[in-house]
Amino acid sequence: MCGEALRLRPHHGMCLAYFAGYGYSDGFSRHTAELLDVLTAETAVTLTVGTDCVCSACPNNVGGVCVQAEKVAGYDRAVLALCGLREDAVLPFGEFVRRVQERVLAPGKRPSVCGGCQWESLCTGKSRWEA
Ligand code: SF4
Repeated sequence: MCGEALRLRPHHGMCLAYFAGYGYSDGFSRHTAELLDVLTAETAVTLTVGTDCVCSACPNNVGGVCVQAEKVAGYDRAVLALCGLREDAVLPFGEFVRRVQERVLAPGKRPSVCGGCQWESLCTGKSRWEA
């Protein structure tokens, strides 16, 4: 739905883990749900510190730039560092979310990355990536 080697912001590996149908608009929520439906463990993703497939349906994406660009880029870089990955890495979605789960979510490091985000109260339950 977002082309080959789908672009994904690293911090969206956390957002998608807890997505429960809420979002910035109905279109955004629908798009995110559809994305979760089509992603498989084998889907190739390109990690990008910039707008991605999730952002493509977001009202906060203005001309290809997030209105909170600096803040969310910080989230992305923190996830990359914790996961031992680099910007523009291409890897299977399953491998990416395994790292997010094992290196960020399971050890309880998520609040150090995105604490204070408006959606944070939704991100305390069971991660979608838990085995
Ligand atoms: S445009 Fe910004 S607020 Fe919207 S999904 Fe992307 S990073 Fe999140």
